[in-house]
Amino acid sequence: MKMSRLMNETLREVPAATEVKGHELLLRAGFVRQVAAGVFSYLHLGQRTLQKLEAIMRQEMNALGGQEIKMPLVHPAVLWQASGRWYEIDAELGRLVDRNGRSLTLALSHEETLAELARQEIHSYRQLPQMAYHIQTKWRDDPRPRAGLIRGREFTMLDSYSLDTDDAGLDEQYQAHFAAYFRIFARVGLPVLAVEADVGMMGGTMAHEFMYLTPIGEDTLLLCNACGYQANRQVATFRKPEKMRGTEAATFVAEIVQGEETVEQVVTAVFPAGSQVNETKLVHLLDAQRLRLAAGQGSGWWILDDGIDPKVWGTKVDKVGDITAAQEGDACATCGELLRTTRAVEVANIFKLGTRYSSTMNATFVDEQNQARPIVMGCYGIGVTRLLACLAEHHQDQVGLVWPVAIAPYQVHLLALRGGVETAVALHQNLRQAGVEVLFDDRDVRPGVKFNDADLIGLPLRLTVSQRSLTAGGVEVKERIGSETAVVAEDDLLNYITNWLAG
Ligand SMILES: [Zn+2]
Repeated sequence: MKMSRLMNETLREVPAATEVKGHELLLRAGFVRQVAAGVFSYLHLGQRTLQKLEAIMRQEMNALGGQEIKMPLVHPAVLWQASGRWYEIDAELGRLVDRNGRSLTLALSHEETLAELARQEIHSYRQLPQMAYHIQTKWRDDPRPRAGLIRGREFTMLDSYSLDTDDAGLDEQYQAHFAAYFRIFARVGLPVLAVEADVGMMGGTMAHEFMYLTPIGEDTLLLCNACGYQANRQVATFRKPEKMRGTEAATFVAEIVQGEETVEQVVTAVFPAGSQVNETKLVHLLDAQRLRLAAGQGSGWWILDDGIDPKVWGTKVDKVGDITAAQEGDACATCGELLRTTRAVEVANIFKLGTRYSSTMNATFVDEQNQARPIVMGCYGIGVTRLLACLAEHHQDQVGLVWPVAIAPYQVHLLALRGGVETAVALHQNLRQAGVEVLFDDRDVRPGVKFNDADLIGLPLRLTVSQRSLTAGGVEVKERIGSETAVVAEDDLLNYITNWLAG
């Protein structure tokens, strides 16, 4: 690819209102452009890296026996009404009406569409197990899009779905995805931790999140160095001290579904002084849809944290349970050592859905005893565009991006300087024919601009052809990491590059 033919220029200035360094570099290097809040165009270089990420994901999903499919972006609302999520999810779900007055949704995820496919196509235990995946666009109308692609509203996901006759089958596919995700993240070059997580709006019985540790992350993790316990703060448990520390209270309005209706119930949560209420735990204890803080204090149902002795408390208590957020320095529930906290971005999650969707949407199979039973489902997702953002965050230095070979938009950056243009043009042709991916800086700009842009874009290997390099015996070669340069004879160059890329 010739840089003179690229639609975009690199940007010298830092774009306004850029909150994170990785996103700033993706904008400056010409990988992405913002179209609206949380909505982006992927320019040529960004699209190339996305395609490489997706190719790695396809290989790993195919290795699990997955069948690639593609489900639509637009869904009939009836599917979401059947699962109940039409009512459970608020303004985050994109809703529209077609010309015939039918309600539609934009895909926030694809459990309903997949369950509907399973309902239509799967009838017998003989057809199970199954695994299907796709890489598709999603829409989630986030109230606070931020940090570029890390929290976008339109984004791309790899999502896969397992279908089994029983929990043992689900366990097997869940574990297979767990391992495959670690392989994917290792291959693309992002270190991640898997932590226990809340099932949230997906529902189901068990979930793990794959977390990239970074101070810009919005999630807080609780980690135990002694025994290896790691969990999202939303679900993290801890050993509560026996001594009473006094109490605090907070009052909420909880929305609770009762039959066809959603009723509002005022609840007052009582928890140890110096702690915070964990709203996720409280939602689960109440089996509520959502919570909001209420103005009035001390009314409605009384919910007591299980770290407080109900006898000491004395007043009427409606429910007792773990509703306190774990914090830095709390004791690990497993081993008693002190927990520490760290910030992270969630790049993937996996859920044991069980029969959450199949039973509400009638996706059943007939078992060996000729009994109809709901299909046991799992769902698994990696945020592809969010992954691009995390990779830009992780692979950078003072002057630009530093792409690993496996995911760089091109493998080599060829710079033609004065006296080397003719040689560079021929070299571009030869390397391309040999299958090397070359970004060719053929622009009529100063050498300093070309060097700066090469550093900013961050391709693994830089080749410079100039009068000086030719006099020195060939082409100057420099790795993006490090400052060493070497001059390689033109005839040896292809071998040199091939070996370097392989190593
Ligand atoms: Zn521990």
